[in-house]
This record gives sequence, C-alpha cells and structure tokens, in this order.
Amino acid sequence: MSQKRHVYAFHEGDGKNKKLLGGKGANLCEMTQFGLNVPPGFVISTEACLDYLANESKTLPDNLMNGVRTHMEQVEAATGKGFGDAANPLLVSVRSGSAMSMPGMMDTILNLGLNSNTLEGVIEQTGDQRFGYDAYRRFIQLFGKVALSVPDEAFDEEFEAVKQNAHVTEDVGLSADDLKEICDRFLKVFEKHTGRPFPEDPYDQLEIAIKAVFGSWMGKRAVDYRRQFNITPDMANGTAVNVCTMVFGNRGNDSATGVAFTRNPGTGENKLFGEYLVNAQGEDVVAGIRTPKPIARLAEEMPEMAEQLEELRQKLESHYKEVQDFEFTIERGTLYCLQTRNGKMNATAMVRTSVEMVEEDLISKEQALLRIDPIYLEQMLYPRLNNENKAEPVAQGLPASPGAASGLAVFDADRAELMGKEQGQKVILLREETKPEDIHGFFASEGILTSRGGKTSHAAVVARGMGKPCVAGAEGISVDVQRREAVAKGTVIREGDMITIDGSSGNVFLGQIPMVEPDFTEELNRLLRWADEAAYLRVMANADTATDAGRALKYGAMGIGLCRTERMFNAVDRLPVVIEMIVAETPAQRQAALDKLLPMQRSDFKEILEVMSPKPVTIRLLDPPIHEFLPTEQQLLSDLNELHHLRNSVRGMNVLAGSMMLLQDPELARQEADSLRHMVDESLVEQAIEKKETMLRKVRTLTETNPMLGHRGVRLGITFPEIYSMQIRAILEAAAECAAKDLEVHPQMMVPQVCTAEELKRVKAMVDEIRVDVEAKYGQKINFRFGTMIEVVRACMRADSLVEEAEFFSFGTNDLTQATFSFSREDAENKFLPMYNQNDILKDNPFEVLDEKGVGKLMQLAVDWGRQKNSKLSVGICGEHGGHPSSIAFCHRAGLNYVSCSAPRVPVARLAAAHASLQQQ
Ligand code: ADP
Ligand code: MG
Ligand code: MG
Repeated sequence: MSQKRHVYAFHEGDGKNKKLLGGKGANLCEMTQFGLNVPPGFVISTEACLDYLANESKTLPDNLMNGVRTHMEQVEAATGKGFGDAANPLLVSVRSGSAMSMPGMMDTILNLGLNSNTLEGVIEQTGDQRFGYDAYRRFIQLFGKVALSVPDEAFDEEFEAVKQNAHVTEDVGLSADDLKEICDRFLKVFEKHTGRPFPEDPYDQLEIAIKAVFGSWMGKRAVDYRRQFNITPDMANGTAVNVCTMVFGNRGNDSATGVAFTRNPGTGENKLFGEYLVNAQGEDVVAGIRTPKPIARLAEEMPEMAEQLEELRQKLESHYKEVQDFEFTIERGTLYCLQTRNGKMNATAMVRTSVEMVEEDLISKEQALLRIDPIYLEQMLYPRLNNENKAEPVAQGLPASPGAASGLAVFDADRAELMGKEQGQKVILLREETKPEDIHGFFASEGILTSRGGKTSHAAVVARGMGKPCVAGAEGISVDVQRREAVAKGTVIREGDMITIDGSSGNVFLGQIPMVEPDFTEELNRLLRWADEAAYLRVMANADTATDAGRALKYGAMGIGLCRTERMFNAVDRLPVVIEMIVAETPAQRQAALDKLLPMQRSDFKEILEVMSPKPVTIRLLDPPIHEFLPTEQQLLSDLNELHHLRNSVRGMNVLAGSMMLLQDPELARQEADSLRHMVDESLVEQAIEKKETMLRKVRTLTETNPMLGHRGVRLGITFPEIYSMQIRAILEAAAECAAKDLEVHPQMMVPQVCTAEELKRVKAMVDEIRVDVEAKYGQKINFRFGTMIEVVRACMRADSLVEEAEFFSFGTNDLTQATFSFSREDAENKFLPMYNQNDILKDNPFEVLDEKGVGKLMQLAVDWGRQKNSKLSVGICGEHGGHPSSIAFCHRAGLNYVSCSAPRVPVARLAAAHASLQQQ
C-alpha cells in the first residue's frame, strides 16, 4: 500500500508545511528547530489521517504504528524515560491539529501511558502519591471521554460521591486515598460504558487515541464548522496528531502553567500579556476553576522564570515576525513552550503593532501593510458600542449600515426633522420601512431602525450612502405609527424614549449604551501613508455635500469620485423649487424655477470645490427620473380624499348656517356663524384641491413602466436641456469664482447613463457654449474636465467612440451589474439571489462582489478600447464595489486609475489598493 512517510519528529518536520503537519504540529517542529525548549515529540501527518479515513476497514495505514514506535524510541532516548516502563515511565499528550484552527476537533488527552504499573513508577519518582493518582484519574476520564465518548456525567457522579464521603467541598481537599478510590471507580465507569477493560498497554492506548483523533475530522461538529466557515479541502484537509512528552505545571509551587500574547491583543502595546496559575496543569487555566493571575505578577513570584519568559517572547517574535499567542508550562524551574500561533488581535492592535514592528526593524513596511486584512480596518472607523454592563438587546435586525448610535425614538420623518434639526436633539428614526419622501428624516437622525426590509431596502441603501448607522428588518419590533410607539420584547418604546442601535451587529437596545468613537490614531495615519506610497490606484470618496466632503478628507480621500447633485435637490429649501421646475407648464415657468436653483447649486458646488481644493471633484449631472422628486400617486390620492372630506364639512357648516338664517332665527345664525369664522374658508380648500389635482396629473404623465430604464440621466438632460444647462453653468461659475479667489480647483463634469457618443456630443456642445459665456463673464479661462459614466452595456461596447468626447470614464458598476445580468437589484436580492448563492449557481452576490468574469470583462474591454485611442484616458469606478477589497484588486489589474467609495470605506480602500500593488509585484 502507501509508501508515504507518516511520522515526523519535532526536530525534523517542516515547520512551513501546515497542510501536512497541521498548524500546531508545524509550529512545534519549527520551535524545536530554532532552539526553543519544546518537550520532545512527533507529528503524525494529515495524509495519514486521510488514508485512514479512506480505508473502509478503519485500520491505520500500513506501518503507521511501526513509525510511531520508532519515533517513540527516539523520544525515550531524548528523555531517558520509557513508554510503559514502570520504573521510569514516559507519559505523553495526544493532541489534534489541522491546517486551520477549528473547534469541533478532538480534545487533547493528557498523561497517556499511565496504567497500574507506570502509576507506581510516577509515584515512586515524584514521591507524591496524590500527584500520581490525580494524574491517573484525569487520564482515565479524558481518555474515556475524548477517545471513547464516555459521558462526563458518569465520571462526575463518582467524583462527587467520593467527595461527599470524604466530607470535602474543594478538590484540593481530597487525599491521596480519596483520589485512589476515584481512580478505581473511574476504571469501572470506563468498563461499564465501553464494554471492555481500560487498556493497560500504552501502545494500545496510543493507537485508540490516534484513531479517535483521525475520526473526529469527520465528526458532525467539525464538518458543520467547515461548512459554516467555507473551509475547503485546499485550505485544510485532515487532522494531524501530535504526540508530546508530558511536562507538569502541577509539581508544586515552583511549577506553573499559562497562556500569553507577545503583545497586548487589545491595544497592541509592546508588552507581554497573559495569565498563569501556579501549581496547575494547562487545562486548569482554560477551565476557569481557579482564577489565574496576570502575567506581570510572575516577576514577583518567580523572577527568574519571568526573565526566561521575556526571553521566550523575544525569540518567538524575532523568529515569526508576528505577534504570537503561546502556551507555556514551568516544571520545577524549567520553562517549556507547548504551542504557538499568530495572535488574533483587534484592528487597533493590528495597526499599532504593524507600525511599531516596522520601527523595531522586525518587519518591512510591505509586511506591515500585508499583515492587515483591509476589511478589518472597518472596526476602527465607525463609532462602536462599549457594552461593559452587558446590556441585553431587545431586538435584532440586519446589520445594514455599520456604526452605532443612540437617540430618542421618533416615528416619522417630520418629527425627526422637528426634534433632530430644529430642537437639536439626537434622534433615531424608527419605522416599519422608509420611502424616498422620508429623506429629510434621515438627515436629521443619528441612525435608522426599521422593522421590515433587508440589506438593500431603501433605509439600508440610503443610510449607507450617508454613512449613518442602520439596523434593518428588526422583526421583533412592531411599530404603531398612529400611536407613536413600538413594542419590542414586551417593552413599549414611546416617542422620545432613548434607544441605541448597532448597525455593525444588528442589535437594538433600550437606553443609552456608551460609545467608543472611531480612533483615527497616529499609527493608522502612518500606516495609511505607507499604503498610499505603495498603491497605484488612487482612492476617491463619494460625497454629495461639503460636509460629506470634509468628512471624506478626514478619511484620506484624494478627491471626490462621485458627487450626486440630486441629493442636493432633496434638501428642504430646494425641494419646493425643484418641484416647481418639474410641474412647470411652460418653458418660461420652468426657467423661473431654474433661475432660483442656479445660485443654490452654484454655492453648493463652490463649497465642495473649496473644501476639496486642490483635489478633483467629480460632479454627476442629474441622473434619477424626475418623478422621484414628486409625491407618489397614492399619497396624492389620499391627500385629495382628505381635502374632499374637509370641503364637504365646510360646505355642510355653511349650509347649516344658511338654513338657520332661513329659519328666521338670526340670533342663532349669528352665533353659529361666529363659531364658524375660525374654520377654513371654502375657497382656500378649493385652491388646495386644485393644486393637488394638477400635481396628480403631472405625476401621472411622468409615470413610467420601468423608471430605472426610462426617462432619466442624459436622456433627461437632452430632452429638457434647461436642467443640464443650469447645472453646467452652476459648476463652471462655481469654478470661476473659486479661481477668482486664487483657489486651485479641479471640477470634473460627468454625464450619467450614456449609451451613444452622440448623446455625449450634444451635452459637450452645451458645455462649450456655456463655457464661452461664463469665461467671458468672469474674464478668465476655466479649468475642468469632461467625462462619462460607463454604466450601460452599450457604452462599454462603444468605448472607442465615447473616448473621443470624454476625458475620463467612471464605471457605475451598480447599474452596469444590473444591466449585464438583466437583474433588478431589489428583486434579485429579495427573491432568488440567496438561493442562487446557496446552490452555487452564482458564487457571490454580484452587487457586493464585482463579477469579474462578466461585468469585469466588459470593463476590461472598455478600458482597453478607450486607451487605444487615448493612452492618457483616466478611468475609475464609483459603484459600491469601489470600497470592496477583492473588487479593488480587480480594478488594479484592469488598469484603472482610481476607485471611489463612501467616506468611511476610504481607509479600507487605501489599504486594499496597496495590497493590490504589492501582491502583483
Ligand atoms: P488546544 O488546542 O485546546 O489548546 P492543546 O493540545 O494545546 O489543546 O492542549 C490542551 C492543554 O493541555 C493546553 O493547556 C496545553 O498546554 C496542555 N498540554 C498539551 N500537551 C501538553 C504536554 N505535553 N505537557 C503539558 N501540558 C500539555
Ligand atoms: Mg492549545
Ligand atoms: Mg447609475
């Protein structure tokens, strides 16, 4: 059968080969080989595990036990002890370990090799009966439980019985005789549950243990875990078995055991961090039976050991060049290292250690950048909860937009605006779901909470765009807008009650939970500067207002890649004018409204250009279908209905008053008329009805079957040229005014939804005409660039002709993805995408992870065709993918110049851009 080698001594195994030896085994080998004090032992490979599992007869691979015996002899020689030797017994631990650490694999068995004979030897050698029996009873229980599934309770019952008979409450109160009795009882428990006597032969014990470890790879817990976390066979396949000489931290007060990090995993501080217990075995630290002491105390209790431990820390770090999380045991004054692995840290600690390890010349800047997963930085960039009192959430929804916020609950957008904006209170908008007309409530709120809808619901998408925390679809909350209250877990939340939402976890709490503000530490800034030096891609932000732009700068944005003018249209003081423009019946009426909008837009643009000077600001001309700015037909019908009621009652009153006159009771009639005087004049109601009816007619004429594929973007710009004219003029005048103040500004005009060069030509012609006019008016040349979004398939195909008009391309990958798949995003994500993903019909959600094979291919064609005609063509991306690390890597490979994403994502993107460059080298 197989001639493969299956067993490797710690001093010969390849420390880099985690796939073969498992993570724990590889590191035991590595540590042994670079001179750390690891108890002698050997690793049985993952290949042996796979061979065993593939073999139907469930026997170990040929010769495996021979290899084990040979290696055990080596260990015997190294330790001077004998496996099964009653006079001087060698005891070992049997530990599992695959290439990736995963719970669900078999637990470690300690003290293997003990039997009635070797036990005598241990007692003889240590002169400590109690120690001997304690070790034995631990072994019987662990072996029974771990290797042969004897339930813990069966052992615990006997243990408690002996304790009771001996009248002791603490384990330490048990005498050697008590422990001996426990061992006897345990052996019986073992026999009863397994139907065979406890194996006396150490090699039998070992063989059973090895098989159990191998078998645990296919155990339900392990299989479930691998499925849950997508651990594929190329990441980890099979488990290794580590056999390691036992060392004892429970041999008295000169012995101890502990776990430590070479640096603080919470803060990154360059100082040993961990815990230990004197006179204890490793498992006691984890089990939490006794409270361990902080590692700093070791310097007082065992100063010499503390020094050695510090040395061990230095050696580990200078070898692994990474923070280590390690296990140690001190047996009668000798320090052993039993395990090490790369330490898991929070983002703050990752960043700090990266920067400090570069300063210490431990790693290079490139290594410092590469050791941090870009997405990890998100943790640092949003406010997060400091839930020290462990408050229980009252509801859980989807983490729809990261960050946390506290505020007073409000149930509609108008109240949010009233309390949040006018009264300056912090509010959380709590609704069943949100609609475009709630937008002013978003602006006024700290965060958004909805009881319905998913991660792509209106609330989620808008909140993410604004960088506000959002929990969506918290179904445990029932909202009653009429009564201005909600109920969650039986608790009533009234308007004005304080609540806290965590958009990173989806949790909702009552009251205010303390918050940790995002920490833009000096270390993070330094790290990101290194990232910028290493990166080829430049990182822009999507920002719609000067405030957003300022925030983007804080995150290190190198410009604005997408400024959506329609967000400005939605502001409270603008919307009525925008509506006026839309409902205008004549060009003159429309022009009047546009004349009012021009100065507003000009000052908006000026502010953004000023804030960003001298960085580029890419402004997209109006994109959405204009009916989005109008009330919905449904809303209008219900308003009209109410107005008709009102008119009827006003009429009724007037009729009543009239009839009273007729009844010749002038006195009563006059009184009645007096009380009616404060009521609404009928003609006012009529006027209101007329206005609503006009609006309704307009809304109906603007209604489209497929608005997102309808009258929007450049199509709107060409059919209503006055709108684009106004915006173009506003941009150019804003630039001229900045330049007049000697501010260097770089506006870029971007046309949405373009599918043919002719469209771009028409808009360009408008631009040229207005430019001549504005330049004459301000007496200076205006510096700007003109470009196009690439977000429809035809635009990709026609890139070589679009490039004749456009100085830059910006891929709008949200729309381009919809267009490429012919999926509408909402429908896809709500209806069939999850099923497609689960069944591997599509691997990822293409709206989150850029579809390189389809959308990416179109992008690549467009880039190549564009650059063939204009090698200086600047190309970027401004869809949500622009902040996604793997999509950023693709953009790098495809030869883009920049990515643009939401402000808090900018640092993530900067690091991802650096990774993309470094990984290509
Ligand atoms: P885990 O993967 O759960 O950490 P380990 O194999 O590291 O499992 O072992 C569990 C505990 O037993 C740890 O505290 C470890 O330090 C201790 N241990 C393992 N092998 C030995 C040994 N040879 N001597 C002393 N303690 C050991
Ligand atoms: Mg361990
Ligand atoms: Mg678009």
